[in-house]
Amino acid sequence: MRKRLIAGNWKMNMLRGEAGELARGVVERTGGLAEKIDIILAPPFTALDAVGDELRGSRVMLAAQNVFWEERGAFTGEISPGMLADAGCSWVIIGHSERRHILRETDEMVRMKIGASLKAGLRVIVCVGETLGERAEGHTIKAVDAQVVKALTGIDIDDPGDLVIAYEPIWAIGTGHHATPAEAEFVQSAIREIAGNILGDLAARIRIVYGGSVNEENIRDLLAEPDIDGALVGGASLKAESMASIVETAGEQ
Ligand code: PEP
Repeated sequence: MRKRLIAGNWKMNMLRGEAGELARGVVERTGGLAEKIDIILAPPFTALDAVGDELRGSRVMLAAQNVFWEERGAFTGEISPGMLADAGCSWVIIGHSERRHILRETDEMVRMKIGASLKAGLRVIVCVGETLGERAEGHTIKAVDAQVVKALTGIDIDDPGDLVIAYEPIWAIGTGHHATPAEAEFVQSAIREIAGNILGDLAARIRIVYGGSVNEENIRDLLAEPDIDGALVGGASLKAESMASIVETAGEQ
């Protein structure tokens, strides 16, 4: 059985003081469940240490929201996988749609980031998902297939726990319109099949989570689907109460 995973992506929110307070609130409310399910917080880079301080001694894990693929050198403004590990991160989110679309990140950049991060011992959450236009044209699976194939081809994975695929339909992110559980399951089971063509038997053991307007109300039905192993949560992760409620539901199994 795959261990459930709930990750909070705080995006470009939270000053250090606010971040520490939010992390403390999440740990207080969910710390007891962190053995049963993977709980991950992804604050902005500037708050990694403040959040890391609050997570110390708990099993709640720290993630970064982005990474560069080189280890060191003349790459002004970038941060390497080794630097993230040094800052206390065990996870990194790669290829979020906001990075792909606003920051023009390509599939090749995503692939290089995944490879470099795994090599440095970080665990990876890689995001894929279709645009509203692709969905309207009936190209959801085609879009997601291309992203998964380009992200995973040539990547070495020893432990299936090190790689998580987040299916995040772009039209559902931050909009309040989530995919129905059946829609998400349809795409996520296809993703598992696509991953199987690349990773073989490991694909049955990697986790595929859903992201896109997840909240306390919809999480239960989403998690009832066999290929939805958890959630990547944006807006609802910015309040300790809602994050904790999502984690508690995931912990019920
Ligand atoms: C996200 O940022 O990955 C996300 C899913 O955001 P939200 O939950 O706000 O839609």
